[in-house]
Amino acid sequence: MGEFAVVALIRIPDRSHRRLSGDASARKLIEILPGLTRHSCENGSAHGILAELTDTETAHALEHVALEIMAQAGSPRELRGRTEWDFVRDGDGVFQVTIEYERDDVAVGSLRVARDLLEWTMGVGEPVDLGGAIALLGALRA
Ligand SMILES: [Zn+2]
Repeated sequence: MGEFAVVALIRIPDRSHRRLSGDASARKLIEILPGLTRHSCENGSAHGILAELTDTETAHALEHVALEIMAQAGSPRELRGRTEWDFVRDGDGVFQVTIEYERDDVAVGSLRVARDLLEWTMGVGEPVDLGGAIALLGALRA
């Protein structure tokens, strides 16, 4: 990981929301963020990102969605993320998502939008004005 990274603790109390599984949610995410297909995953998985998104930890999907939102808002595509968890250390259902950043405000904002988007994907949140959110994040860089 690079020198500058933000670490977000993502608490997911509901066990059924800890994994993202099935084509439907993956397709939903890729439909609204086609740039996700350009991502590669560095978790050692032999699968491509599409296969990853159909069956992975929700927090890992959040990592990639946040990085893609950051890229859409003008951040460098080279920025990387990492998702880890240690429920004994951090608490049950707490995932640690680390995101490299060029601007910390854009990274934190992207994580928030990614959370809203994931919640909507899982049917537990309101629709997200993604274009508007990306425009606001992009304006932070101006
Ligand atoms: Zn990954």
